[in-house]
Amino acid sequence: MKERGIAVWEKYVRKVTPYVPGEQPENNNILKLNTNENPYPPSSYVKKAMEEISDEQLRLYPDPRAGLLVKAIANHYGLKEEQIFPGVGSDDVLAMCFLTFFQSEKPIFFPDITYSFYEVWANLYRIPYEKKPLGEKFQIYPKDYFGENGGIIFPNPNAPTGIFLPLKEVEEIVEKNKDVIVIIDEAYIDFGGQTALPLVEKYDNLLVVHTFSKSRAMAGARIGFAMGDPKLIHYLNDVKFSFNSYTLGISSLIAGAKAMEDNGYFFKTTEKIKNTREWTKRELKKLGFSFPDSMGNFVFASHEKYRAEDIFIHLKENNIYVRHFQQPKVDNYLRITIGTKDQMEKLMDCLDQFIR
Ligand code: PMP
Repeated sequence: MKERGIAVWEKYVRKVTPYVPGEQPENNNILKLNTNENPYPPSSYVKKAMEEISDEQLRLYPDPRAGLLVKAIANHYGLKEEQIFPGVGSDDVLAMCFLTFFQSEKPIFFPDITYSFYEVWANLYRIPYEKKPLGEKFQIYPKDYFGENGGIIFPNPNAPTGIFLPLKEVEEIVEKNKDVIVIIDEAYIDFGGQTALPLVEKYDNLLVVHTFSKSRAMAGARIGFAMGDPKLIHYLNDVKFSFNSYTLGISSLIAGAKAMEDNGYFFKTTEKIKNTREWTKRELKKLGFSFPDSMGNFVFASHEKYRAEDIFIHLKENNIYVRHFQQPKVDNYLRITIGTKDQMEKLMDCLDQFIR
């Protein structure tokens, strides 16, 4: 049956405006600085362990609690296994958190300029929300988050600005919101700033979410995890086991556990990225760009004379991909992922050609 040319069943379809991920081009000649991936390979421990996966391990379902990975994460951070909830990237973990903890009729709060998936999940799960405008310099005002709400989430450092909110102010937000769950999305924390992780022992309403996609160079393995009070983790597991019990595959479990053991490599590569980021900031400044002081593996830059979109097109024509958001307040900015020093030099040459 049709009503006004539209099939009746369409009335009952869940309609959503999906999140738009950055482009993943197939062409290998592209300098990819658009999705905040790590330019270095993962730890050599990872590949070696993956080569040793047995037929038996592939034949069977993986451990639905991802014990191997959870144990490695717990050891690394000095937590109990009951304080960790793993998932298929932090996107999966965050989606489960929205579904589990944001059940109030009051709106959840998050910044107006932030990881755009928050709004998508809120719409998908029909969670009321209120976006809190950032300040003129893209700063988060903790006071904005003190009013009545159904939960709070923000990234620290924030994305795509890279601005880090000092731990004291993060704690103030958690302290003032003890009746709801506060989620700190620390996808980029390993590149600077100070983690809120020690606060999980003090506040049973706090969840800190990390990912293997950035600092551990494993976006392809899809591993993320939340850390918090065992009661929160228990509730998350109940929802997860009502949704999909076998989330992480065996190769991701093994790869993730191995990566966690290689601290030396982790520190070496994150330090390199931090140094290249600071070099990139100095070079961008010389070319007339300005940007907030990013603590992430990216810089959010705007040019005094040239439109971000025009620079974006010029870079793309030269096979350099960065991210441009067609969104009010930020449409004159480019989010540029920090690559290797060589890659950033290439970017500077290309920007120089355009600006000169
Ligand atoms: N949070 C933030 C702030 C991000 O930028 C991203 C990456 N797009 C994620 C979470 C999700 O990362 P992943 O699912 O790869 O762990």
